[in-house]
Amino acid sequence: MPQIILHPDKERSVFRRHPWLFAGSVAHLKGRANSGDTVEVLTDDGRPMGKAAWSPKSQIRARMWTFDPDETVDDAFFKRRVAQSVARRAVMPELRGQQGLRLIHAESDGLPGVIADQYGDTVVVQLTSTGADKWRKAIVNALVKVTGCARVFERSDSDVRGMEGLEPVTGWVHGEAPEGGIVIDENGVRLGIDVEGGHKTGFYLDQRDNRRLLGELSAGKSVLNCFCYTGGFSLQALAGGATNVLSIDSSGPALDRARANLALNQNLPADRAEWLEADVFLALREFRKEGRTFDIIVLDPPKFAPSAAHAERAARAYKDINLLGFRLLNPGGLLMTYSCSGGIGLELFQKIVAGAALDAGRDARIVRRLAGSADHPIGLAYPEGEYLKGLLVQAD
Ligand code: SAH
Repeated sequence: MPQIILHPDKERSVFRRHPWLFAGSVAHLKGRANSGDTVEVLTDDGRPMGKAAWSPKSQIRARMWTFDPDETVDDAFFKRRVAQSVARRAVMPELRGQQGLRLIHAESDGLPGVIADQYGDTVVVQLTSTGADKWRKAIVNALVKVTGCARVFERSDSDVRGMEGLEPVTGWVHGEAPEGGIVIDENGVRLGIDVEGGHKTGFYLDQRDNRRLLGELSAGKSVLNCFCYTGGFSLQALAGGATNVLSIDSSGPALDRARANLALNQNLPADRAEWLEADVFLALREFRKEGRTFDIIVLDPPKFAPSAAHAERAARAYKDINLLGFRLLNPGGLLMTYSCSGGIGLELFQKIVAGAALDAGRDARIVRRLAGSADHPIGLAYPEGEYLKGLLVQAD
């Protein structure tokens, strides 16, 4: 097996069980390895540290499959890892019985570059690293065996594949497209999922608990849901008894799906829902001019800062929408505000929101810190896994 010898000054992170080996930490490669091949990882003085997947084109030159030098990376390895990851989901009560569930959360579940989301009896897999790509068959077989699902769709079209030198790959890799589409129940709300064309694997499962929380807060309230995508937050607000819910997204297809989702829930008061295709930045300014206000405002924008390099521009965008949010909030109102940017840490995000409240002239307090659901765990050795952070802020 080819071997990676680590640079003597750059061995710390692997001792801390961080799964990434950056180009600068690899002193040299002994033997020949192709993209995605399994390599043995050794310290400068020859101590074996485990096995990794080789990625010659990426700045992340290798990703650790295992920190056990004696563990073999083969079909049985993936079966074990997939089974462990799925079994982990049984622990948290809010995850039990969920039809929409993230089964594998990549590095944080010990499978770098592997994402698997379950929607009923369909599993969507997204492979973003050379190693994951190489072991596609083993991973898909393991998912089918472990979950007993009827079909698997591959959605390996994330931009990050480019950095690994991989082309996009999509298609059914087990079974066929289900007739009549895919519908899940999420805490009492029915949602259609477009696994082939929707965002990510079709849906934002990470916000599941937060959508439920919004439902619990919404009785008798007017709600503005910004960046609504297919209406997940909006439908929970309606189910929770909101007096009216205005939802904004710039994507027409997302709004079409949102309207269709509302129609799937005949028990919900459709006359209380309004959908607006617009740029949130402009729409909120318009509302400000019109003097429109709301009791609860949700801000769940897309990733403004994919990495720390974009942090400054992103910070301005977060500041802008949060400032507008505070200005449109009724006295005593709640702002549910998020950042899913890896490049913006929790501390910085809180500072931005505090600055926005200050500029809006509103006294406000955090009543709850919000995060992704438990099926999106954060490996303690892998703090990069913490991307979604949110604040529930109550303003005077
Ligand atoms: N809250 C959603 C997920 C939001 S994803 C849920 O729980 O499912 C972010 C959404 O923001 C996407 O649907 C995207 O179309 C939309 N979007 C991106 N930029 C926008 C903008 N400037 N104005 C309005 N919507 C925008």
